Amino acid sequence: PGQLVGKRAFVTAAAQGIGRATALAFAEAGAEVIATDINEARLAGIASERVRTAKLDVLDRAAVLAAAEAAGPVDILFNCAGFVHQGNILEATEEEFTFAFDLNVRSMMRTIQAFLPSMLERRGGVILNVASVASSVKGLPNRAIYGTSKAAVIGLTKSVATDFVRQGVRCNAICPGTVESPSLQDRIAANAEAAGGLEAARAAFVARQAMGRLGRPEEIAALAVYLASDAAEFITGQAVLIDGGISL
Ligand code: NAD
Repeated sequence: PGQLVGKRAFVTAAAQGIGRATALAFAEAGAEVIATDINEARLAGIASERVRTAKLDVLDRAAVLAAAEAAGPVDILFNCAGFVHQGNILEATEEEFTFAFDLNVRSMMRTIQAFLPSMLERRGGVILNVASVASSVKGLPNRAIYGTSKAAVIGLTKSVATDFVRQGVRCNAICPGTVESPSLQDRIAANAEAAGGLEAARAAFVARQAMGRLGRPEEIAALAVYLASDAAEFITGQAVLIDGGISL
């Protein structure tokens, strides 16, 4: 507690899953949080004294710039919005590829372009991009578009870290393994028929994890708090794995 006192954080995709847990953990650690999501109704539930909510579609460049203007300078940018496309490369369409890159990668370009200038002016800031083990770290079945997009997130992270390392800005990627979240429930349901039932589909996701369990959003959030804090001042440009051993 207290690691982020005096800091202001901006979080995308904060209505559920990892984004929600992280917005709440930032506030718990003392930060003032601007929590955004395209789903305004679900986002409303996390508003509190330290958490201000605002609707934001990260596909909309003008809306991102307006949100940054309204937010004012922040110390921490948590880029969490992302979508999992399922399928191998032969099943991928141009449209799906374009959409995945728009939501998973270009969204981060937009928010970083919106918030980085004020971080540079103040000579300080932390950018955290949610990538995945399904990326340049590891190939996973039926994650062709997704893995490609998350590898790009790691590349973006390293280039931002490199270009601004002498100006007080750190940029890291977080690479979770399989984490319990509403969209994971959807993926389990989508695989149920092929797997022979919901339980079997769920068991297949759990089995990938060397630890034999899924991650909890709160576990990813705790790493985000650490990486955002001054205690992690020597860490930049890294793809930090938090994956229950899936990459072993
Ligand atoms: P989730 O997929 O359940 O929720 C995603 C959130 O993103 C929703 O609240 C949704 O409304 C929001 N969103 C969708 N489109 C948006 C847009 N255009 N603008 C703003 N918000 C939008 O949450 P999750 O599973 O915790 O995933 C969050 C991030 O973590 C994603 O980038 C995902 O790829 C990554 N990730 C998840 C897992 C996992 O197993 N759950 C593993 C590795 C990485």
